[in-house]
Amino acid sequence: MDTPKKDEVTVQGISASQGIAYGQIFVFIQSDVEVPNYQVDPEKRIAEVGRFEKALVTTRQQISKIKGEVEKNLGPEEALIFDAHLLVLEDQALIGETIREFETTGRNIETCFNQISTRYIQAFSEIDDEYLRERAGDIRDVAQRVLQNLLGQAENSLSRLADKRIIVANDVSPSDSASIDRSAALALVTDSGSRTSHAVIMARSMKVPAVVGVRDLTARVKNGDWALVDGYAGLIIVNPSEATLFRYGKIQEQKKTFESRLLKANSQPSVTLDGVAVALMANIERVEELGAVKEYQAEGIGLYRTEYLFLNSARIPTEQEQFLAYKTVAEALAPHPVIIRSLDLGGDKPMAGSPHLFPKEDNPFMGFRAIRFCLVHTDIFKDQLRAILLASAHGKVRLMYPMISGSEELAQANAVLAECKAELKARGQAFDEKMEVGAMIEIPSAATTTDILAKDCAFFSVGTNDLIQYLLAVDRVNDRIAHLYEPTHPAVIRTLKHIVDEAHKQNVPVSVCGEMAGDPVFAPLLLGLGIDGLSMSPAWLPTVKYIVRAMTMADARALAAEALTMSSPKEIYAKCDAFYRARVTVE
Ligand code: PEP
Ligand code: MG
Repeated sequence: MDTPKKDEVTVQGISASQGIAYGQIFVFIQSDVEVPNYQVDPEKRIAEVGRFEKALVTTRQQISKIKGEVEKNLGPEEALIFDAHLLVLEDQALIGETIREFETTGRNIETCFNQISTRYIQAFSEIDDEYLRERAGDIRDVAQRVLQNLLGQAENSLSRLADKRIIVANDVSPSDSASIDRSAALALVTDSGSRTSHAVIMARSMKVPAVVGVRDLTARVKNGDWALVDGYAGLIIVNPSEATLFRYGKIQEQKKTFESRLLKANSQPSVTLDGVAVALMANIERVEELGAVKEYQAEGIGLYRTEYLFLNSARIPTEQEQFLAYKTVAEALAPHPVIIRSLDLGGDKPMAGSPHLFPKEDNPFMGFRAIRFCLVHTDIFKDQLRAILLASAHGKVRLMYPMISGSEELAQANAVLAECKAELKARGQAFDEKMEVGAMIEIPSAATTTDILAKDCAFFSVGTNDLIQYLLAVDRVNDRIAHLYEPTHPAVIRTLKHIVDEAHKQNVPVSVCGEMAGDPVFAPLLLGLGIDGLSMSPAWLPTVKYIVRAMTMADARALAAEALTMSSPKEIYAKCDAFYRARVTVE
């Protein structure tokens, strides 16, 4: 007799890494180690402390090994999180309090360590700051490892997947994600909702589809269930029917055909049908993305977000460490330009390892971030500027300041830069004396004073992500008002036009490096408004190049001229969408 067919169940989550996967589920529940609680005989007390020290050493060895593997497979920046873990093991307060608790109560060391570390985790998880709350995760991760080692338990099962599996987990800690068997992970699905978790970043770099925020899915599926993961739409379809599989097979085929068409066209020059060349560049956050930059043939880096060197680090990277990263990027891209943006830390990007530098703020996006932070912490700023200057001797490096609000800030930043140049000269170290310096235009006050800023800038890059949020007063990460975040609002289009016109009067080129630049629906409008270059996530380059090659600049200008006369953001969007669809079809 046939076994009855199970019903298809669709669960909506949040898309975190693109792609489609079909296979069997492996359920991974990160659960706390069960800790026995007993009294230790007085004569065994010295040995008990010795057992604790041995477990700390073993844990240290395990984390260092994982760190080495991640460094080898994914690069040094992905491995930085494990420095934070190693620091937890060195935390004298945590270790000292555990030993004191043991000396006072005589309970077994697991109980004492569990009690103290739980108190720490609790304290961190109550802090009203996302990044500090994530430190609680670090301590929990390390504490579980120490407890496993004290109790002689084996390492987690993600490193021993028998076959290719879709991993469905309640949560995946950094060390769990580092131990995932890369050849066996088909997709990653997590109950918890963070798109920026380390596991999801790893999934993206492994090019594996990922969906987060599926709530209690781990409780509703079991090992061996079949499922389809749609990383584009953020869907998990458990027990997919034949019809669903067929539909997805078709979608995958269409996507593959279209992608191969895009990739074929991607080796062609970025020129419109009426012969206008358009510079298409890449945005990067990590040195490891250079492979994708080359693969998608970017004509330079239009935005190197250097804060990612700092964000997961337990300490501020030194001048030398930064220099090595910047030099690697400059050399890899030469003779193409690399625009290195100075630190845009703070706001929603405080530095995990240095919470004292970023006190909590009520209004972080309008707060102590980016150039405002750098002009106060000039020691940190100068280390970075010297590193960028030193890298300029190894390629075509340009420096760009973020969040400039007016000419005085620009002048102050340039004064610090001049000091750094003098210091390097005194040290006898080489740099490009003519290194170009530009600014991001992402604050309305900078947009309206473009003519003033242009006197001291060699180039501009418009950060539409921030510019839109400040122009429209819509927090860019607030889900409740996401519908109000409209790139085609007339205020945005008029402001872009004003920036371009004022900059061009003084022969200063303007590119866009916000997300708008990588959207093929918006790219023609931007180019029609006179934007000189577009910089985007490397993976978007083929799609944008495809529309550039399929349109004339004359048509793009007409589109922009018409958009400038319109009043409804939705209608302007519809115009842009129609422009795109008329030129690009997916059969
Ligand atoms: C922007 O604001 O558009 C931008 C590119 O910078 P970030 O997204 O890093 O703030
Ligand atoms: Mg910005």
